[in-house]
Amino acid sequence: MAQHTVALIPGDGIGLETSTAMRRVVEASGADIEWEVVEAGAHTIDECGTPLPESTIEAVRRNKVAIKGPVSTPVGKGFRSVNVALRQRLDLYACLRPVLSLPGAGGRYEGVDLVIVRENSEDLYAGIEFEEGSAETAELISFCERAGAGAIRPDSGISIKPVSVTATRNIVRYAFDYAVKHGRSKVTAVHKANIMKHTDGLFLRVAREVAEEYAGRIGFEDRIIDAFCMNMVIDPTQFDVVVFPNLYGDIASDLGAGLVGGLGIAPGANIGSECAVFEAVHGSAPDIAGKNIANPTAEILSAAMMLDHLGEPACAARIRDAVRAVYGAGRVLTADIRRTTGSTRAAAGCSEFADALIAEM
Ligand code: NAD
Repeated sequence: MAQHTVALIPGDGIGLETSTAMRRVVEASGADIEWEVVEAGAHTIDECGTPLPESTIEAVRRNKVAIKGPVSTPVGKGFRSVNVALRQRLDLYACLRPVLSLPGAGGRYEGVDLVIVRENSEDLYAGIEFEEGSAETAELISFCERAGAGAIRPDSGISIKPVSVTATRNIVRYAFDYAVKHGRSKVTAVHKANIMKHTDGLFLRVAREVAEEYAGRIGFEDRIIDAFCMNMVIDPTQFDVVVFPNLYGDIASDLGAGLVGGLGIAPGANIGSECAVFEAVHGSAPDIAGKNIANPTAEILSAAMMLDHLGEPACAARIRDAVRAVYGAGRVLTADIRRTTGSTRAAAGCSEFADALIAEM
């Protein structure tokens, strides 16, 4: 019997290619894993009537650890996000996204080493939405007006932004505990409390209360989201652990990825008290899917985070060392990194890039 069992959700789009590459690299690292391959995405709707079959959720619950490729979500219509549903159903309340310089990947800065900790269950991602023109929306508009909200145009759609003390306390404690465990020195809480006093204001108030519990051990500061974005572009090395409400954390993840070389190299994890699902920051990239040109690094580095979580730090280190070596040598580059670095070498495909990593291990 294998030492670990992991649910593998290839997803769709480039997920099919990056998951195959990830699996080969993880196996070459020496990790003894039995994969239970399960499906999610548009392609399961015909057979199961849903893009997120119960059997997939059950497989993640049973294995407690999963690695997932991206899943496409139609914009403005159709099913809601599989990712959001998975995070809510499995109570994966913390999203962890390291932003780390990778020499040779064409990032704009050297020495970036920050960790985004994103609240993963509420905020505008809670999915509480009211469609323009519906009776419920009209009722809600009239309630808001009675409650003194001022006029809301009758042709409005409405999304609700819940931010609770409970979820904020959990995510901010997670950020501070992460800082303690990983020898980091500062947590920054990011918000727009000057405008959204009862949601972001609550987030900031609770963050300050939690910070008191860690005073003297871990530093604390807060930034307004717009100023944070500007400061990230000026000098991302000034940040260490950064904790966000859900939506800002999602946007900041792509900003961070863009500063160090792009979505092709940005890993992530969704952590709950029972289960953990590891996945790259990027989506299914339909523009390049099926062409063997996607960069699998983000999913492979997500797998390294998974191996740490499984108690296999030596295998994780082997993968990270191989990634650093291949980027450092600059001979094998996928098309996205070829663009960010301005290299004139022929681009390597997704599978050739995995071959290069395996040859390094
Ligand atoms: P995307 O991340 O899929 O792509 C944005 C751009 O980055 C594209 O030009 C793409 O080619 C490029 N890119 C992304 N990953 C890459 C990689 N590994 N290698 C090389 N280039 C890469 O974002 P999008 O286009 O906004 O979304 C496409 C779909 O993915 C949508 O349906 C969206 O809902 C979904 N999505 C899913 C997840 C997830 O499953 N976790 C996350 C984000 C978006």
